[in-house]
Amino acid sequence: MASYDFLTAYCTCPRCRTSGTFEIEAFFPSGGLFEYNLGDELINQTKIKLKENFIAEGYTICPYCDKDFFINIQVRNKTIYAINISDKKGYIDNPAKKH
Ligand SMILES: [Zn+2]
Repeated sequence: MASYDFLTAYCTCPRCRTSGTFEIEAFFPSGGLFEYNLGDELINQTKIKLKENFIAEGYTICPYCDKDFFINIQVRNKTIYAINISDKKGYIDNPAKKH
């Protein structure tokens, strides 16, 4: 399994509805700890041949509510085109969580 990359993108947390800039762990097949923004072309230093168009999984923990959620990252022409919130449920689901 390849390592992940980071994607910085503006989105709205589906858990607390706060909008802001999120640092998303992005699981691209070419993952190599690169830092991306929307509109960037993927850097591929692996021997894996990337598809032109695919949807990668992203994961982040909201800095506002400390809950996690998944993101679909749309890649078109090997470029990070758009993101949208995934239906996949996060792992952190304890409303009383306070350390
Ligand atoms: Zn949140």
